[in-house]
Amino acid sequence: MNFLITGAAGFLGSALANQLAREGHQVRGLDDLSTGDPQALAPDVHFTRGDVNDRPKLWTLLQEVDCVYHLAARVSVPESILYPREYNAVNVGGTVSLMEAMRDVGVRRVVLASSGAIYGDQKIQPLTEAQPSKPRSPYAVSKLAAEYYIRTIGALWGIETVCLRIFNAYGPGQHLPPSHPPVVPYFLRQALRGGTLVVHSDGQQTRDYVYVDDVTAAMVAAATAPGLNGLVINVGSKTETSVRDLVRLVLEITGSKANVIYNSQTEGGVSRMCADLNLAAEKLNYKPAVPLEEGLRLTLARDPRFKTA
Ligand code: NAD
Repeated sequence: MNFLITGAAGFLGSALANQLAREGHQVRGLDDLSTGDPQALAPDVHFTRGDVNDRPKLWTLLQEVDCVYHLAARVSVPESILYPREYNAVNVGGTVSLMEAMRDVGVRRVVLASSGAIYGDQKIQPLTEAQPSKPRSPYAVSKLAAEYYIRTIGALWGIETVCLRIFNAYGPGQHLPPSHPPVVPYFLRQALRGGTLVVHSDGQQTRDYVYVDDVTAAMVAAATAPGLNGLVINVGSKTETSVRDLVRLVLEITGSKANVIYNSQTEGGVSRMCADLNLAAEKLNYKPAVPLEEGLRLTLARDPRFKTA
C-alpha cells in the first residue's frame, strides 16, 4: 500500500513509518521538523519537510496514497495552556487542511492519532469510548476538535476515518524537550544521571502507559481492518500505574539512588487514566503485548541517549 504519514519524523511517526517500510509498503513522510528528527527514519521512507497546513504540498504528496496517518501536532499539555492559538492552528487547522486536500485528491482512508487526554477527569474507569469527553486543556480540546472535523468531513465526502485515542505512549526516541518533558524519558534520564526526579503533586495520580510497539501495531491494523469507518478507539495498556509506582520501577530498573521530590505546588493533572480496550480488541484485534517493566527495559536498551548516559 501507499501511505502518507504527517508528523513522520516524530516519536510515534518514525516508529510507524519504519514499521510500514519494513513490511514492504511505500511510505511518504511529512514533517516540519519543529521537534521531529528525520535521522530517525529508515532510508526507504520518502521524507519531505513541510507544514501540514501547506495544501499545495499536500496535494502533491497525496497522489496515489491509499491511507493517511495524521500525527503532525503540537503535543504538550502544559505548553498548550501557554500557547492555545498555536495549538489550534496546528492541531485543528492542520487537520482541516489535510481533510480538504484529501477530499481534493480523493484519498480513501485517514487514521488520526487522537489522545486519551480528551476524557479529562472521570469517575468511571476504565474509560470507554462512549463516555462523554471532558477536555481540560487546549491540547485536549484541539484533539477532540480534530476528531470531529475528521469524522464530519469524512462522512460528507466519503473518506473512511478512524480516530485512535492513544494513552501515555513511551519508548525509544520519545522527544525530551527541556521544559515539560514527558514523564517516562524524563524519569529515566534523571535516574541515570543521578539527578532529582521531580514528581508533580503527590504522585498518586494514575496513567495508562503503553509501549510504542503496541501503539504501532494498533495503527497498522487501523489502515486495513474492516468496519472501522467513523469509529474512535482507545489504544492503551489497560493497566493503571501511579506515578509513584513508575518512579519505583525506574529506580529499580536503572539501579539508581536518585532523589525523588514530590512537589505539592504543581498540579498532577487528572487523577486517574485507564483505557478500556474492548473495542480495540474487537475491531483491531488489539492486545497490548509489552508490560510496563519490559517496556522500560526495552527503552533503556534501544535508545542510545540512555545507553551512553
Ligand atoms: P512528536 O512531537 O514526537 O511528533 C509530532 C511531530 O509532528 C513532530 O515530529 C513535529 O515536528 C511534527 N509537527 C508539529 N507541527 C507540525 C506542522 N505544523 N507540520 C508538520 N509537522 C508538524 O509527538 P508524538 O508523541 O510522536 O505524537 C504523535 C501524535 O500522536 C500527535 O498527534 C500526538 O498528539 C498523538 N498522541 C501522542 C501520545 C503520546 O503519548 N506520545 C498520546 C496521545 C496522542
